[in-house]
Amino acid sequence: MTYTSQVSEGYQGFEQGPIRPPSEAQSLLIRVTRNCAWNRCTFCPVYKALAFSKRPVADVKRDIDLVYEYLLEIQQAHDMQSAGIRREMTRLAKSGGPMDPAAFEAAMQWFLNGANSVFLQDADSLVTGASELIDIVSHLKTRFPWVERVTSYARSSTIGKVAEDDLKALRTAGLNRLHVGLESGSDKVLRMVRKGSSKEMHVKAGLKVKKAGMELSEYVMPGLGGIGLSTEHALETADALSQIDPDFIRFRTLAVSERAPLHVDRVSGRFQTCSDVMIVKEMRTLIENLRGVSSAIKSDHILNLFEDLEGRMPQDKGRMLAILDEFLEMEPEKQDLYRVGRRLGVFSSLGDMRDLERVSRVQQLCESNGITHESTDALLEHIMQTFI
Ligand code: SF4
Repeated sequence: MTYTSQVSEGYQGFEQGPIRPPSEAQSLLIRVTRNCAWNRCTFCPVYKALAFSKRPVADVKRDIDLVYEYLLEIQQAHDMQSAGIRREMTRLAKSGGPMDPAAFEAAMQWFLNGANSVFLQDADSLVTGASELIDIVSHLKTRFPWVERVTSYARSSTIGKVAEDDLKALRTAGLNRLHVGLESGSDKVLRMVRKGSSKEMHVKAGLKVKKAGMELSEYVMPGLGGIGLSTEHALETADALSQIDPDFIRFRTLAVSERAPLHVDRVSGRFQTCSDVMIVKEMRTLIENLRGVSSAIKSDHILNLFEDLEGRMPQDKGRMLAILDEFLEMEPEKQDLYRVGRRLGVFSSLGDMRDLERVSRVQQLCESNGITHESTDALLEHIMQTFI
């Protein structure tokens, strides 16, 4: 192996963090920082017991080098058309062949997924510092010049602190998309959940990312205002997004994990969760009130009720509203049937309810498990916990 730099004393081999956006499922995950420097959002259980740290640039580069070396080996084996490449490589991993099995597995997965994109972990890579991150991204592009997309999560408050020129330099180096957790455009909601960003900060950060020439993906969390702030959450979020006009608006419906601080508020009654019907009304209000945006709306998270609630604004607005209206106009029993079928993975869109075999399967599941209108919410709550 040929390495570009000396690793730190604490280097313990190739690392990956716990999460990535659903749209980065095919990407190589390169861990730049560990956990979340903010870590206070009350709805988020992901890093709560874990300390934040920046990884030394040399260690991140070593991770990149390891994947590079293994990728070359895998490509060579593939070019030789060796039979059962995956089986052979897995055997090699188990026999102690590769020096770093985690890096080898990452390289293999990435190869099998086309090796086109990279996602920088964990919660907010920009906290690393512009020059360090430019160094890392440049190294990444040197090793993998064909990669089309390099992306990361970034917090609006951190983006606000990065100089415009540094953001542009990061874009030039190859970082071409940021995923921002906007969650809400309502200051009341943002304060309540301790997001650490205001609506104004979100808008300014979003515009800054776009000005730097990066693609911008804004995550929105239906249900985050609870019953009390549901309408305000929808209207203010629509207004913030209308000011930003991001490339992507991605829905990720709230599900309160028992490990999240918000769970305590929920148990005490300080936070009242919206029903699925309320959330659908909220999403309707949000989409209806988007003004002047050309964003692509995405619903690629398992927690969302409708996988097909996707489209380009403004031309697909009517079609997306029609999906929500169709659900809202259903009888409560039919809504329950869809909700149960969706959460059990039988349905992904309302169109699936025209498939009588699937409908019958969900009906039988409900009957055999004694699921009624009254018990549906508790059952779905239980299932949702397994998703988060
Ligand atoms: S910034 Fe992101 S990762 Fe950090 S606590 Fe908030 S939601 Fe979780």
